[in-house]
Amino acid sequence: MVDWAQNGGSVNLIKITFVIALSFLFLFSNITCSTITSGKTPSESEINKEAAKAYSDIKAKSKISTRQDWNAMVQRVAKRIAGASGENFQWEAILIESPEPNAWCMPGGKIAVYTGIMPVLKTEGALAAVLGHEVAHATRRHGLKGYARAIEEQQAGALIGVATAVGGQLLCKTENCRLLTGLGGAAAGIALTFFNRKFSRDDESEADQFGQNYMAKAGYDPSESIKLWERMGSVKGGSAPPEWMSTHPSDTHRREQLNQWLPESQKIYHQAPQKYGTGNEIK
Ligand SMILES: [Zn+2]
Repeated sequence: MVDWAQNGGSVNLIKITFVIALSFLFLFSNITCSTITSGKTPSESEINKEAAKAYSDIKAKSKISTRQDWNAMVQRVAKRIAGASGENFQWEAILIESPEPNAWCMPGGKIAVYTGIMPVLKTEGALAAVLGHEVAHATRRHGLKGYARAIEEQQAGALIGVATAVGGQLLCKTENCRLLTGLGGAAAGIALTFFNRKFSRDDESEADQFGQNYMAKAGYDPSESIKLWERMGSVKGGSAPPEWMSTHPSDTHRREQLNQWLPESQKIYHQAPQKYGTGNEIK
């Protein structure tokens, strides 16, 4: 929204008018969906199916990194975290060429890491901390209601699909969200919802705690989850901070909590069949 100011006045006016029109479309769709939707709420497997469609579209439209050492690292960390979670998802992970310091896991276990995050992390263990957090959002079923609603509105013939296709350029905060705006259908609806997601404070704390345990069980020193936050100063203040850097709870509170949980996750780490410490350095 802030970058509107950089455009010319007439363009602004058109954009503002357009956004207002879109807001009415959304409002209208929300009001009517309670009367239109007679179908049942989409099941988790339906949500995962649509997420998988959106994911394969992202794969097709994104530039997949050719850096072999980083790709290998992302694959092994994702695999270990997935295994530690004990969740029977159709796991998949990709490394996308993008300057954004981002990583995410869609419902159903579709993971992406952006090359822009790698130098910030500095260690494989820190990557395990970020993926642990993102995977925990998926395994704890955070945001599922929102994804279900996006599909439901699409099935009800509501306008989210149209709004996604037409207005994604304005509604999206991230590059990958914009990539999906032309997709249409439930997959686009879920993609837009996913990339604009904002979890509650409780969900964030839960993802931090479960994530710390996942990385420990996967064989990475869980204290690296706290060190990660000491490295984050350099990437703060961007226009769209990535989900895992969510400002709620605050960084201080977050570090305090991670410290509090550390004895428990250290116990888990000591029982891990294989230990990698902080893993390889990221250069
Ligand atoms: Zn989060």
